[in-house]
Amino acid sequence: MQNKEIRLASRPAGVPTDENFQLVETEVPSIADGEVLLRSLYISVDPYLRGRMRESKSYVPPFQLGQVIESGVVSEVMESKSPDFKKGDVVSAYLGWRLYNVANARQLMRTIPGVSPPSTFLGALGMPGLTAYFGLLDIGKPKEGETVVVSGAAGAVGMTVCQIAKIKGCRVVGIAGSDEKSKYLRDELGVDATINYKTAGDMFAALKEACPNGVDVYFDNVGGAVSDAVLPVINDRARIVLCGQISIYNLDKVDVGLRPQTSLLVHSALMQGFIITKYTSRFAEGVGQLAQWFTSGQLKHVETVVEGFENTPQAFIGLFSGENLGKQVVKVG
Ligand code: NDP
Repeated sequence: MQNKEIRLASRPAGVPTDENFQLVETEVPSIADGEVLLRSLYISVDPYLRGRMRESKSYVPPFQLGQVIESGVVSEVMESKSPDFKKGDVVSAYLGWRLYNVANARQLMRTIPGVSPPSTFLGALGMPGLTAYFGLLDIGKPKEGETVVVSGAAGAVGMTVCQIAKIKGCRVVGIAGSDEKSKYLRDELGVDATINYKTAGDMFAALKEACPNGVDVYFDNVGGAVSDAVLPVINDRARIVLCGQISIYNLDKVDVGLRPQTSLLVHSALMQGFIITKYTSRFAEGVGQLAQWFTSGQLKHVETVVEGFENTPQAFIGLFSGENLGKQVVKVG
């Protein structure tokens, strides 16, 4: 069997391009005791990987040049030297962008039999779902009847936030980058109002109209000008959940916008960032609740699938122009 892997060839300047990645053919390694050989089924591409392509250290170390890119991968066990996994098991793990990976059995998370497609474990029942769950419920603490505004609302995390906020009885306002995405949020996920930030013009006026009772929770996936527009409409004791800042990931200079301190002070509001890995000890709780909502039909996993391992870099690059509706995955084939 021939293996293939995708490495970081050069550090992106601005929006990543194909040239930043290198496809390399390698051998399939053999496995030792306690290890399994995995065939990749679905690869997750995520905005935070852009941060790991910079040289500077963030909350995770940067990829080295020539290093295989790593992200969430759902795989099938091909061969096992672990008593815990057998050939044919479908598992999720943090692995390299490879056709075949070798992993220690301790790295693997089982998927739930019967949940289809398996890529759900990279989306609503995976890292993005957990990010939405803990970010919204632990920090946002939405109460029934409150208004929750979500930026990046038509993406993997945002869509799950919108749905959980609806389950909790909130008025949900989604901000997304196209009319098609906005329509999907309203018609398929029951979002109460949407704003297309690319065409709205006066975002402050659009938010005032969409949030007649002000904003109690703002779940921020994008940062930048979109988030600047939300601050003036927050209510007293509002909670602002800093999940992501994708609008600035490709900038080389420091981004300077509205300073939030006065709005936070005047409204006794909370603004808190978080990184999902800090919740690892509670993942079982999160997956359990998400899976229950999923199987009862209250939570949908929505995904955009790019076919073919070689197209993984393109799928990743597409995140920065909003090509995905829901979770962007690559079906390895
Ligand atoms: P998405 O599925 O939301 O994909 C990214 C989306 O961002 C695009 O579809 C696009 O949608 C939007 N976007 C891209 N560029 C811009 C821009 N310049 N301004 C506004 N919107 C933009 O990704 P995820 O759901 O995986 O992640 C969402 C956010 O959450 C990211 O910022 C990510 O880094 C963060 N995150 C944080 C975690 C944590 O632990 N704190 C964990 C996981 C994710 P559109 O068409 O609407 O523009």
